[in-house]
Amino acid sequence: MGTFDTVRKNLEDRGYTVRVFATGAEAAAYLDGAIDGRTVGFGGSVTLEQLGLYDALGKHNTVVWHWRQEAAAARREAMFTDVYLSSANGLAETGEIVNIDGIGNRVAATLFGHEKVYFVVGRNKLAPTYEEALGRARNVASPQNARRLGKKTPCAVRGDRCYDCRSPERICRGLVTLWGPMLGMETEILLVDEDLGL
Ligand code: SF4
Repeated sequence: MGTFDTVRKNLEDRGYTVRVFATGAEAAAYLDGAIDGRTVGFGGSVTLEQLGLYDALGKHNTVVWHWRQEAAAARREAMFTDVYLSSANGLAETGEIVNIDGIGNRVAATLFGHEKVYFVVGRNKLAPTYEEALGRARNVASPQNARRLGKKTPCAVRGDRCYDCRSPERICRGLVTLWGPMLGMETEILLVDEDLGL
């Protein structure tokens, strides 16, 4: 049985289009072929950075990413691009997609404003149940992101788990769980059989 057999079926049952790739490079090549002549917004994502999609897609699309452009303007502009790209902080084998955000642009953009949203998800994001996917998002992804961003939070200092802190630098301000594709917006999930992102 493949890594993604169960989650693929459960995502498809929920109405998502799902594709499985052996490598991130193959997923990136697929997106580079599928997205052409569009406006493309990027969510903050180590996965997307690892795949080099900003540079690749930028050769034949209008790309908008607050990691590479003036941040506040890019966050706003990316809310209404044709296409939006994101990863996930946790993906349950039962099909729930979990994301935590500090400013909110990434989670908001996965809910509304585009013709199509793609989630690129490495195998390390997968968890057996919703509770474990939520636990991964809170206790693995968020502390690693806080550390990456150099935040003064207990999770960034200790690097072991979430402390549900009240720090002014807390990066976890909102949580979105997708139970299915939002109505009126096509959503495609690319599952990659490599570790990608945090
Ligand atoms: S709530 Fe605070 S302690 Fe928990 S992961 Fe987020 S920033 Fe770290």
